[in-house]
Amino acid sequence: TELSRIRNFAIIAHIDHGKSTLADRMIQICGGLTDREMREQVLDSMELERERGITIKAQTVRLTYRAQDGQDYVLNMIDTPGHVDFTYEVSRSLKACEGSLLLVDASQGVEAQTLANVYLALEHDHEMIPVLNKVDLPAAEPERIKEQIEEVIGLDASEALEISAKTGQGVTEVLEAIVRRLPPPKGDAAAPLQGLVVDSWYDTYLGVVVLVRVMQGQLRAGRKLRFMGTRAVHDVTEVGTFTPAKKAAEVLGPGEIGYVISGIKTIQDAKVGDTVTDERQRCETPLSGFMPSVPVVFCGLFPTDAAEYEELRDSLGKLALNDASFQFEPEVSPALGFGFRCGFLGLLHLEIVQERLEREFGLDLITTAPSVVYKVHLTDGTSLELHNPVDMPEVTKIKTIEEPWIRATILVPDEHLGAVLKLCEERRGEQLDLTYAGSRAMVVYRLPLNEVVFDFYDRLKSVTRGYASFDYHLEGYREGDLVKLSVLVNGDPVDALAIMVHRNQSEVRGRALCQKLKDLIPRQMFKIAIQAAIGGKVIARETVSALRKDVTAKCYGGDVSRKRKLLEKQKAGKKRMRQIGNVEIPQSAFLAALKMG
Ligand code: GDP
Ligand code: MG
Repeated sequence: TELSRIRNFAIIAHIDHGKSTLADRMIQICGGLTDREMREQVLDSMELERERGITIKAQTVRLTYRAQDGQDYVLNMIDTPGHVDFTYEVSRSLKACEGSLLLVDASQGVEAQTLANVYLALEHDHEMIPVLNKVDLPAAEPERIKEQIEEVIGLDASEALEISAKTGQGVTEVLEAIVRRLPPPKGDAAAPLQGLVVDSWYDTYLGVVVLVRVMQGQLRAGRKLRFMGTRAVHDVTEVGTFTPAKKAAEVLGPGEIGYVISGIKTIQDAKVGDTVTDERQRCETPLSGFMPSVPVVFCGLFPTDAAEYEELRDSLGKLALNDASFQFEPEVSPALGFGFRCGFLGLLHLEIVQERLEREFGLDLITTAPSVVYKVHLTDGTSLELHNPVDMPEVTKIKTIEEPWIRATILVPDEHLGAVLKLCEERRGEQLDLTYAGSRAMVVYRLPLNEVVFDFYDRLKSVTRGYASFDYHLEGYREGDLVKLSVLVNGDPVDALAIMVHRNQSEVRGRALCQKLKDLIPRQMFKIAIQAAIGGKVIARETVSALRKDVTAKCYGGDVSRKRKLLEKQKAGKKRMRQIGNVEIPQSAFLAALKMG
């Protein structure tokens, strides 16, 4: 296709502002699918994505649009993930396009991810078309939101489009604006191949599928493809595009976005952000900014039933096939037995993986408290990365510990600002900025990631009744006075309950943790002592008193079926229990360390 007839664009928005719905409408208008094939939100293909209404993997569709000028245009649309954990994927998607639709819910206005995505789009020199969505809602205030866009983002909103992705109102105007207002791509078909890996995934039938934006040169079947970052070389067996149905093509030229199928066995060889070139005619330099995403949050995953260990390993392997940023390795815990230490991009990523394991693979899991990655500097001059509090070296051997810090942006209605400031201060936050846009405050805080991993989202949502939005990025490491808080149950240390905390908060956390465990561990035939300790020093203690009589006692002489039901219920409750010494600890207790309130 001629470059002047190609437009590559991303849709950027805060979560739930209507990206996927708009994408669906545009596919429908361009005739990519018949009405019968058109299910709601075709791009959110995974069951879980559909249910949670979020887009996890970026997806691309090639549309053919006959514009009002009578010409046919190729529109490559990338639907980007909206959540903070996947910022890197968003950034790579944006690099593959020349412009963006900035979609803002006209009843909600600018939110934290709207801003974060706008900054990313500006970094990539994108032309942006502001689009106000959901104007069909009675609560929509397009005029006010336009002012907000100008005020907060500094973008001219006078030509912002007003649409309803739901009813289809104004969507044709969006397609026209893409053709008229966004620039076509540039590139030289005669130059050596230079392409950007936008995405890669594993398909049961095709093997690894790589989505590439061709910058220079041509990509065809039969050539040898070199991944410049990972240095893998593979034969191209097929290239093509998604319309959204897969369609093979002879060649992908400059400015085009399409898939490549080759002999790649693992997506670890085809990392998002890498540059591909022709092995026999290599381009001189890779595209800038390749930065394989690294996990920042780790936790242990253990099967509730030890017999499910092999199954868990197979399932993790299957998940990793489709998620290059997910890592796992075997871990043995004295308390929980055989399991895996897993690394994630963030908390949502962790939740998604855990949920998929339970749902798609039918596994019952115990998750240990997530931990960030600490840098521990030892007195002998060496350093180590700590992924698990259990591996903490002896205190006498430690010189300093560094922890990761983030820069967080929070947008919140004025009336909830006080609660947000209080929460950030409690979490060792340092305020960097506080500005207003209408009746909304925008606060910027520097926070230790460790404090965000501990239920920060949940708290933020609850103290603002859901009205705050939040975005963050990692800023770097800083020294901190951190200690390992251990938990002992009847004198036995429970490794899976150990957490890293700041010394100033260790007593409060220790007390809260003991209290929580006391509530969660059911009474048994004997007394149970729960202690929190730092090193050898106990800093908090609670006792679960002994059970006096049989639970079924009250049924004696009564209805037998009721008694049986009670016993069955007890048995079911046991499924998610772990034996520590002679004490049974329920699965929920292992997560208690997280929720500090
Ligand atoms: P995404 O997270 O940005 O992909 O948002 P979705 O496309 O999944 O939409 C989030 C919710 O908003 C869904 O329940 C949609 O049905 C709804 N929605 C999207 N566009 C509109 C619209 O124009 N009007 C109304 N009333 N609802 C919409
Ligand atoms: Mg979506």
